[in-house]
Amino acid sequence: MLKKYAVIGNPIAHSKSPQIHQAFAEETHLNIEYTRVLSPLDGFDATVQALQENGFKGANVTVPFKLEAFRIAQHLTERAHDAGAVNTLIFNQDGIVGDNTDGVGLVRDIEQNLHISLAGKRVLLIGAGGAAEGVLHPILEQKPQLLIITNRTLDKALSMIKKVVEQGEHRYVSVNAHAFDDLGEQAFDVIVNATSAGLSDSHLPLPESIFAQGALAYEMMYGRETPFMQFARAHGAEVADGLGMLVEQAAEAFYLWHQVRPNTAPVIASFRV
Ligand code: NDP
Repeated sequence: MLKKYAVIGNPIAHSKSPQIHQAFAEETHLNIEYTRVLSPLDGFDATVQALQENGFKGANVTVPFKLEAFRIAQHLTERAHDAGAVNTLIFNQDGIVGDNTDGVGLVRDIEQNLHISLAGKRVLLIGAGGAAEGVLHPILEQKPQLLIITNRTLDKALSMIKKVVEQGEHRYVSVNAHAFDDLGEQAFDVIVNATSAGLSDSHLPLPESIFAQGALAYEMMYGRETPFMQFARAHGAEVADGLGMLVEQAAEAFYLWHQVRPNTAPVIASFRV
């Protein structure tokens, strides 16, 4: 029987998820239908209910519904709980299960595709919105030496750090939060831009000393060269965009739904051309 899945968002027309999941399905010889669903901003619950009634087995959730998906899930995985947001829903006999695959997507892209281990590294996470929250715990699990969060609104970065400290997750990692102009001369091996500043072509007022020799500058946005990427390139960093993360988070959702792990490299390559 044809199994049905969807990606829910608003707007949704730009989403690459249907092509990614169809490519995985072809490679793994599965027969699936995966469609874009535009949900009204005030109608996420009804959209999810309609999908369940129509026999859908799961859905991905994107902007701006990840917090609502967290709220309506009847069961949460540990990583969804840690992230405080849900990007993958599984509809089964127990109801709605909510998971978050964004963080594992980022870590797999950095470690497996870019061949950079986060263990023992000095990591700077820029941003304190949903994307930053989603990747924080998966990064900490890799046991970097140091993790600093910096954000335009410092209070949000401070409260992320406070939560980490309260949960005791900083045991192996030195964690802190600083304002952009309070990073001093500190250098980092991996710098992850989890802000949406690139959307408006905004430059982040970061000191150039953040890039250690051979640093990786990871821009979570994809599809365009952002001012952050230009800044990082100009200071000698290796630069990556978020396409690999997008494909890896989709692969993890695919695994949750079908218990088959697709090969991501050809899909990433096909989107790069
Ligand atoms: P949110 O709206 O939740 O957070 C936005 C963040 O960006 C905040 O930290 C905000 O700072 C900061 N910000 C926005 N504009 C500026 C600016 N001009 N200067 C400095 N900081 C700014 O968005 P998300 O966290 O959901 O998404 C962030 C980015 O990550 C998006 O570009 C999204 O496309 C990308 N993303 C990529 C994924 C992938 O698979 N590749 C997955 C998920 C997200 P403040 O707190 O001060 O407002």
